[in-house]
Amino acid sequence: MIKILSNATIVQFDPARVQSGVDIALEHGRIVKIGKNLTISSPGAAILPMDGKLVLPGMVCAHNHFYSALARGITADIAPSTDFVSILNNLWWRLDRAIDEEILEASALAAALEAVKAGTTAVIDHHASPNFITGSLDVLKNAFEKIGLRGILCYETTDRNGETGMKEGIAENINFAKGIDVKNDRRLVEAAIGGHAPFTLNDKALEMMKEAIDETGRGIHVHVSEDAYDAAFSHHQKREDPLARLNRFGLLNKNALIIHGVHLTETEIGLLNEHDSYLVHNPRSNMNNNVGYMEKIQQVKNIAIGTDGIGSDMFEEFKFAFFKHRDAGGALWPDTFARFLQNGNHILEHYFGGKFGTVKAGYRADFTILDYNSPTPLTADNVAGHLAFGMSARDVDSVMVNGKFIYKNREFPFDTAKIYASARKAAAKLWKNM
Ligand SMILES: [Zn+2]
Repeated sequence: MIKILSNATIVQFDPARVQSGVDIALEHGRIVKIGKNLTISSPGAAILPMDGKLVLPGMVCAHNHFYSALARGITADIAPSTDFVSILNNLWWRLDRAIDEEILEASALAAALEAVKAGTTAVIDHHASPNFITGSLDVLKNAFEKIGLRGILCYETTDRNGETGMKEGIAENINFAKGIDVKNDRRLVEAAIGGHAPFTLNDKALEMMKEAIDETGRGIHVHVSEDAYDAAFSHHQKREDPLARLNRFGLLNKNALIIHGVHLTETEIGLLNEHDSYLVHNPRSNMNNNVGYMEKIQQVKNIAIGTDGIGSDMFEEFKFAFFKHRDAGGALWPDTFARFLQNGNHILEHYFGGKFGTVKAGYRADFTILDYNSPTPLTADNVAGHLAFGMSARDVDSVMVNGKFIYKNREFPFDTAKIYASARKAAAKLWKNM
């Protein structure tokens, strides 16, 4: 049946557009028509009044770790960690080893709920649980599907727990990708081929990742040069830049997701651009880990924004991206960062097929809907300014994915109290396990 979102205000960042008093007709998870008075010309359609609310293309978090959702406020005994590798050793690599199936499920459900509440329609996740590898991506997938969130999942292959663990990671990526029913156009979850970072991926692991992308037709999702250590390791052990090394193994293509890239050289950025790969910028995480600022952001062709495990609030992440850039003396304005934010939708197009990221006929009906009451006019010229200085997750009223409301008038269609209670119980177990 045709659904009509009536009297909506369409707001888009790139190209900037504000169009009020329009009806949006949807069928089979796609936009079929946009115009005035569609409610009159479509008898029998289900009318969903928007009362002037803002309908935006879905917000995409292009890099996240749902396994880290239960680390918030952690009180386990963590040794002081003054550099990036100590932070990994003392916190994250202890945390991921303590994750079992129950903890992962609780973590993923809570993280997915919070993503949707913040207006996020899709999350690209990078998962690690070295003591529960096989089957872990299915646990995540079930959580995404239960909440109705769209996602691209992968397992962070690494050699830091030996060759057996590395091979199990590769196998989990391949089996999960092969299990995706690509004929199902309405599927919520897709697969990528994950790797932790070049400094924990030996040549054998990179070879196997190449085989995995060839076998599955997906792209890699890997941290690269987050900290200067990744480049130093690569120069010392391999005598080449980390991204050049990935390229030598044939891992760069238009589906490749390169995360952080804070310390990429100009030559490496050239490789990234030449292969049309994506760089995902995670400003809050970079600041939190004191790894440096991605100064060369303007040289990268394709940029999207992620949170790297610090929730999934893309309004907040966008603001940090812009303000940190200003603080570092950068010359870009909010409209460029708004484009970076909207770009996450292009990654969805590569993995799911179809069109994402524009409120236009033929595009997928993934929307972030805001009840945003502004004291100043909202126009195409100033929409990015509103995003930087006004709009926030508190304005999120509803979220639609695949033409279906998964969050409506600030409510989920199920009881969330139980999900939070299980998460708190699992968090206590996780911290104790560590
Ligand atoms: Zn990450």
